[in-house]
Amino acid sequence: FLPHLVASLERVDQTYIMVKPDGVQRGLVGEIISRFEKKGFKLTGLKLTQCSKDLAEEHYKDLKGKSFFPGLIEYITSGPVVCMAWEGVGVVASARKLIGVTNPLEAEPGSIRGDLAIQKGRNVIHGSDSPESGKREVALWFKEGELVDWEPALASWLIE
Ligand code: UDP
Ligand code: MG
Repeated sequence: FLPHLVASLERVDQTYIMVKPDGVQRGLVGEIISRFEKKGFKLTGLKLTQCSKDLAEEHYKDLKGKSFFPGLIEYITSGPVVCMAWEGVGVVASARKLIGVTNPLEAEPGSIRGDLAIQKGRNVIHGSDSPESGKREVALWFKEGELVDWEPALASWLIE
């Protein structure tokens, strides 16, 4: 490894990205994965799962007490979700930009929610809101053996 590449790798974060049940049902999984792939981030975990009520409540524990919480839990557990762990320099903030703001009607065109959704309660995708949440959520949704550490062949064409 070149020293500057090692230096940038030290700042690598991880984020938890999830295609919500509406995204899966609407056939948007490929489109959504593709946006992160094309950006150049590294995929380290990927699976389709039916999430339990307990897991949904743990994932969204900071929102417990909000009026929309029961509806949110019902939504997230209403069908399979696609779970992803992505790694990269600045991946958390960048993913939030790729995703767009919570309300799809206010999300910028070009963002996932801006292009593909209408309502907050059906906004097709989740993304961690900080590097700390990223770590917590990846650990919550993936067992250790489900995550893969690998060296993308294109690394030096993406990170100088
Ligand atoms: N949500 C909702 N109504 C609201 C706020 C949020 O249904 O008024 C849902 C929405 O699906 C959102 C999720 O709850 O994605 C988590 O809320 P958060 O504020 O964390 O938004 P996010 O980080 O997903 O943009
Ligand atoms: Mg959030």
